[in-house]
Amino acid sequence: MAVTAPAIVWFREDLRLDDNPALAAAVATGRPLVAVYLRDEVSPGVRPLGGAARWWLHQSLTSLAESLAGHGVTLVLRTGPATTEIAQLVRETGAEAVFWNRRYGAAERAVDAELKTGLREDGVEVASFAAALLFEPWTITTGSGTPYSVFTPFWRACLASPPPRAPIDEPDEVTGWDRDVPTDLLADWDLEPTRPDWAAGLREAWQPGEASAHRLLDEFLTDKLAAYDDERDLPAQAATSGLSPHLRWGEISPHRIWAQTDLVRRGAGAREAAGASRFLTELGWREFCYHVLFAAPDLATVNWRRGFDAFPWPPLDEDALAAWQQGRTGIPLVDAGMRELWRTGAMHNRIRMVVASFLTKNLLIDWRKGEQWFWDTLVDADSAANAFNWQWVAGSGADAAPYFRIFNPELQAKKFDPHGEYIRQNVPEYGTDAYPAPIVDLAQTRKAALAAYDVVKRSA
Ligand code: FAD
Repeated sequence: MAVTAPAIVWFREDLRLDDNPALAAAVATGRPLVAVYLRDEVSPGVRPLGGAARWWLHQSLTSLAESLAGHGVTLVLRTGPATTEIAQLVRETGAEAVFWNRRYGAAERAVDAELKTGLREDGVEVASFAAALLFEPWTITTGSGTPYSVFTPFWRACLASPPPRAPIDEPDEVTGWDRDVPTDLLADWDLEPTRPDWAAGLREAWQPGEASAHRLLDEFLTDKLAAYDDERDLPAQAATSGLSPHLRWGEISPHRIWAQTDLVRRGAGAREAAGASRFLTELGWREFCYHVLFAAPDLATVNWRRGFDAFPWPPLDEDALAAWQQGRTGIPLVDAGMRELWRTGAMHNRIRMVVASFLTKNLLIDWRKGEQWFWDTLVDADSAANAFNWQWVAGSGADAAPYFRIFNPELQAKKFDPHGEYIRQNVPEYGTDAYPAPIVDLAQTRKAALAAYDVVKRSA
């Protein structure tokens, strides 16, 4: 009997079965499937994951492997550069087709392009799909064909484009390749911390995996949508969706979120409709970050506004950086945020802006130090959103604001944590002698930051 050669589905940042176009296309070939996840820490330019992201990945792969096993498919784990490992897997299995969903970083795109060319030369069918973004970066451009550099016209252009495609349901009938394929053991990847095991707070705060992502979306749309527009800036309320790490790993697709939110919006009252539009606009910010990264691949290391290269960063104050990282600056809202981050692997968006502003403007520490700390500690650490937002707050990024924005953490606390609930949740010793005095004077350091920014303005 003739043996049907398998098709390979290469999972990357799309750890889901629902709305997975690469998976759907592989199933549609009628071939048995080989599913693989590759740990590639050696291809040039591919940034090694931070600690919190590694923890998340371990759980997410466990969850994906269980879902695939439910369809009779084994998730094969391999280590090495994609260009050689995937080609090797094709040879081992005799696969005649390889499918994956697109990535948008320059290093990742280079890997994918090289692999695609090599496989096609060998006569293997290769196809890549749009799955992580609602709008592909090359489809949204200004009238003169350049990428947008300001969010509002960008989002307007997205909304005027053909709407995102409908999500694709999880396939019913999947056939796994019935031969044994050599695989690494997930435990051997050492993604979870052991000595010390600092992940207890992460385990308490999060349940990685596709099922949990869908549950969060349903809960958000049912219970939180109406108040979202009013309460999303209040860190003491659980008013936001909590979907960012699930989106980061592609456990849920933006198309699924878009479709479900749109459905609710159509049948809803004014408050829900306002909440839905605001929520979709936040997804729009995620899109914008990726589009900016696509056009400026070195977003995590190079000032997006090159004029900012003239900013006179003073020599690094290691003690101040450590105080910021550990949440002992003596500025309560900043410390609350940094401790929330350390404990849970996440921080409320409003507070991310406050702590980033404090680091770059009051402590005059280069935004790249903050970006790297977030990269290591956030469960949603994302090459587009993290770099983009750090630059946005630092003043070097894609932003329409014509002035140098400095958040005052005391005023922000009064406005967004008026009863001090969030501060007390995260800094229990606040108000006692055990709490440190501020390490800097907010008014003086604000003046110094403005003076430093004058150098950028003068050299522009
Ligand atoms: P919701 O309010 O429920 O929003 C829904 C979704 O919209 C989010 O899950 C997220 O995917 C997207 N979103 C919301 N706000 C933003 C934004 N400002 N930029 C991009 N996407 C957004 N987000 C990340 O996903 N990864 C990061 O590494 C990251 N780093 C950040 C660093 C700084 C300095 C700042 C100021 C913000 C950063 N953000 C990052 C954006 C934002 O803080 C988080 O996306 C948000 O807090 C996630 O909570 P949520 O899922 O409950 O958001």
